[in-house]
Amino acid sequence: MNLDFTVEKYRELCHAVLNSSYTPVPVGKYLVGGVDGRAIILRHDVDDKIKYTLKLAKIESEMGLTSTYYVRMVSKTFKPEIIREMEDLGHELGYHYEVLDKAGGDYEKAIGIFEDELAELRKVCDVKTICMHGNPLTRWDNRDLWKHYDFKDFGIIGEAYLSIDYSDVVYFSDTGRTWAGERYRVKDFVDTSSDSFGVRSTDDLIDLINEGGVGRMCLLSHLDQWSDGYLSWIRTWAERSVRNFVKANVIRRVRRNYGK
Ligand SMILES: [Zn+2]
Repeated sequence: MNLDFTVEKYRELCHAVLNSSYTPVPVGKYLVGGVDGRAIILRHDVDDKIKYTLKLAKIESEMGLTSTYYVRMVSKTFKPEIIREMEDLGHELGYHYEVLDKAGGDYEKAIGIFEDELAELRKVCDVKTICMHGNPLTRWDNRDLWKHYDFKDFGIIGEAYLSIDYSDVVYFSDTGRTWAGERYRVKDFVDTSSDSFGVRSTDDLIDLINEGGVGRMCLLSHLDQWSDGYLSWIRTWAERSVRNFVKANVIRRVRRNYGK
């Protein structure tokens, strides 16, 4: 059976990236102009299960890829030894902030939490870039913080949603266990759509990479959702299905409220 979103499939994707006409690059390196021409920016959000994510970070590194891992500052993901290990593998680490959610929408409180959590993470690893965490069940969009403050004041060179020009870089995300999935994205989106490329499965994405028809792309994946066996695939599929059902309802409610 050809299951998608498995460790084996992720290896195939990495293999395709490495053997393509694109240069793979982590976010920070991309933002400082580390790549001319065709590029695939590799980004991972560590929302959960960091120990499991480390296994895939090792696979990437063994294959010769470096990516950016954005880590949430919550007890289940802020694991200093694992974060250090990821950095030692050659990956970039970044701060996956959710401070407006944590501060209940209070901007002043939120920037205080941002400063504290960034300092905490910097005790463990180098942090040059940040990326907001999108919780579909809260009222706030964490990146709105930067309408009031400037992340450059904190020695940050870029924010993965705000600093990449998505009119030039096609954005693909595995949110909801599909690369198409705009139906299941509540906050995890950019202004331009990748739907016109018809990519749903990882095989579709691999075909697109092999064809090389897109100049630059950014791939966001949540590696803890890529299963290492049939049983874990079923379990993750079941969890995902419930989450997608909830998210689809949230989106329907938001759209109804805004008359969309
Ligand atoms: Zn996240």
